[in-house]
Amino acid sequence: MSIKKKAITASASAALGGILKYIDREPEKNLVKIIEYAEKIVGKGLFPAENFTRMKAGASDPDNIYTRLVMNMLRDVDRDLLKHMFLSLALEAGYFGTKEVRANREKYNCNIPFILLFDPTSACNLKCKGCWAAEYGHRQSLSMEEMRSIVSQGKALGTHVYMLTGGEPLIRKDDVIRLCEENPDCVFMAYTNGTLIDDAFCREVLRVGNLAFALSIEGTEASNDFRRGEGAYERTMQAMALLKKYKCFYGISVCYTRKNFDYVISDEFTDKMLDCGVKYAWYFNYMPVGHTADPELIPTPAQRKAMYFWLRKMRRSETGKPLMVIDFQDDGEYVGGCIAGGRNYFHINSSGDMEPCVFIHYSDANIRTHTLLQALQNPLFMEYRKGQPFNDNHLRPCPMLENPEKLREIIKKIGARSTDLIVEEDVDTLCGRCDAFAYEWQPVADEIWRTTTHPKTHTQYYRDGGKSKIQ
Ligand code: SF4
Repeated sequence: MSIKKKAITASASAALGGILKYIDREPEKNLVKIIEYAEKIVGKGLFPAENFTRMKAGASDPDNIYTRLVMNMLRDVDRDLLKHMFLSLALEAGYFGTKEVRANREKYNCNIPFILLFDPTSACNLKCKGCWAAEYGHRQSLSMEEMRSIVSQGKALGTHVYMLTGGEPLIRKDDVIRLCEENPDCVFMAYTNGTLIDDAFCREVLRVGNLAFALSIEGTEASNDFRRGEGAYERTMQAMALLKKYKCFYGISVCYTRKNFDYVISDEFTDKMLDCGVKYAWYFNYMPVGHTADPELIPTPAQRKAMYFWLRKMRRSETGKPLMVIDFQDDGEYVGGCIAGGRNYFHINSSGDMEPCVFIHYSDANIRTHTLLQALQNPLFMEYRKGQPFNDNHLRPCPMLENPEKLREIIKKIGARSTDLIVEEDVDTLCGRCDAFAYEWQPVADEIWRTTTHPKTHTQYYRDGGKSKIQ
């Protein structure tokens, strides 16, 4: 770390400590100060000024859902952990990281991600119906050295946010803690079933200060346990209780399907999750990937439309709740469409294959033979870069689910191999499961796109050699 960067980090840390103490004295009144502070350290042209103006207005209203969310975080999350997370996210990832990522995109003439996902192991301690991890057992894992290498290569490119998927990443919980400890300038988030979280682990999480969680939950106890096995729901709820007791930072990850859709967007469900101390909820549209996939579980166009409006209702202070809701499929308009292929993120599986997206199991590079940068410059990710956005309607962002002809074209053109861990999957078979949905969703999505307003995305495209890049 350069002397200048060290000095900025040290002074930001000291200032943040002071501000948090100041907020503690009179939280409602002094909250606006922290926003002014954030504006000073990460604003400066990197993020739109109106974002900060809106945040300051909201912070002056105690009933505003975002004010309530921040108050809940100040009350529920361990103060050192909160401080560490904020500094790593705002300063290391947001300020230094964004600058480096953007500079490296120019320098290397390829996508450079803001976030990296990787699977420490393909193993899982549950045996969920339809999940490949249950079938695949303990056969594939990244070594500790490989995980270290992913993070150090990522940091050299400016990437400071790492999400751990799997398999069940906490099967490797000692290694995960070591990785967090060795990289205090990064933030890690584990997507977990929560069943391996115990008191000792929570204490370690507080000690390292840069690990958050997204606990998988499928809806009701009955629907959860039908797929995950009897008692799984209760164990996940116990994990949340432990995380709450230790004041850790956590949310949920919800895969919504045609079957559980109504419940997972109900007040009953979101209120229950808020009671459990959840601060954010990642919603994932069911993707029909793998040989056991069932296209009948893809949410219907009517459900996708309902999801779009539900998300926006949840985010309006007058109608929403103090819960950050994010949807991989319906929030494309905030990030300029598909973020995969390294544009904002990519995925490394437990065999080391570098894949454009956690749902797109094709690759032309492996960490055992290629560097991260080489993968980003290889044909597969470069085709993503050329094609993004895959549709000018960001409600149809995906080259697989909503534009299956695009993924067929890319995979066939460059001859990427299937990296599915169970049965190699031909791209026509995979995309064939999406054709009907894509066809039915198009008129609905186009109608929503025509009749609603959209945020001006502060993003970057490189399509057509950078001519369409938006800064
Ligand atoms: S490939 Fe599809 S699922 Fe993956 S990031 Fe792009 S739009 Fe989302």
